[in-house]
Amino acid sequence: MDTLRLKDNKEGIIAAAEILKADGIVGIPTETVYGLAASAYSSQAISKVFTAKGRPQDNPLIVHISDMDMLSDVVSEFSPTAKELAKRFWPGPLTMVLPKSEKITESVSKGLSTVAVRMPSNIVAREVIKASGLPLAAPSANLSGSPSPTTANHVITDLDGKIDALIFSSDCEVGLESTVVSLAVDPPRLLRPGFITAEQLKEVIPNLVIDKAVLQELGKGEKAASPGMMYKHYSPKTEVFLVEAENDVFVSFVNSNNNCAAICFSEEQEKITVPVLSLGQKESAENQAKNLFALLRQSDTLNVKTVYVHAPKKDGVGLAVYNRLIRAAGFKVIKL
Ligand code: AMP
Ligand code: MG
Repeated sequence: MDTLRLKDNKEGIIAAAEILKADGIVGIPTETVYGLAASAYSSQAISKVFTAKGRPQDNPLIVHISDMDMLSDVVSEFSPTAKELAKRFWPGPLTMVLPKSEKITESVSKGLSTVAVRMPSNIVAREVIKASGLPLAAPSANLSGSPSPTTANHVITDLDGKIDALIFSSDCEVGLESTVVSLAVDPPRLLRPGFITAEQLKEVIPNLVIDKAVLQELGKGEKAASPGMMYKHYSPKTEVFLVEAENDVFVSFVNSNNNCAAICFSEEQEKITVPVLSLGQKESAENQAKNLFALLRQSDTLNVKTVYVHAPKKDGVGLAVYNRLIRAAGFKVIKL
């Protein structure tokens, strides 16, 4: 199929909405990463998303809404805690797992009694939802397993010819997928860290638990609270290792290795003699988040066997950057 190129203006938004109403699938910008949108009511549209991405069949999708009026079509309960989180963080990069409404097709939730829901802050995304009148299920618009798309061109690289249309818009401001918190369990549980930090969530949920799978590989036979956390993710073709080390130790380590590249902090870049890409300043996890996926894609153009990534700090937004990197590395961590 030809993938229709749409602009992020009124005509583009209306064209995207028409395709979505007819059970088509459309790449849309969001503030986190580009999403591949489909009607959350249509099992036919949802199955096209899974096919285009090659997404494992048991991994449920996040449903996106444009306003609070849509919420009752998606969830069957909205607790006072959920209301408080929505008041503070919506529209924005926070997803809540809540009891599911019957209107949402089983193909979205993959047999779970819950659904993941979020209201994006990106205006184009919200306008597309509003114009279609549909809650939209939208995973990242990449091939499953590869780094998530933070530009329209990343979507073209992965999915051109496999999706009905793509809205070309700005690069994503956040650059990492949303924070996912489950309010369907007691105590509430952080399933995936993101731009909205665990520290911010704890202001509303003091007893928030951070799921083990955020920083560790699950053992064989262990059940994931969030099915998506079982899979290898975000990986370029080049083999990635995460390296935990002080700045100078990291620099000497990569400089003494052959056939490798480094992804480092900007403070170290000049001292590195192998091919090198900079994540941004060590103290700026927000910048690292924004750059991370584009750099992982770029690392495939360096023609090296291995890329060593300097591990970020694990607090604030750094926890989310670390979580994506450890998956990109298939949990291979070198501690120096
Ligand atoms: P993606 O769509 O690729 O951003 O991934 C969505 C993430 O949310 C995946 O890790 C899913 O496993 C997770 N998720 C979606 N729905 C649920 C749910 N009902 N319960 C728990 N995790 C969910
Ligand atoms: Mg994804």
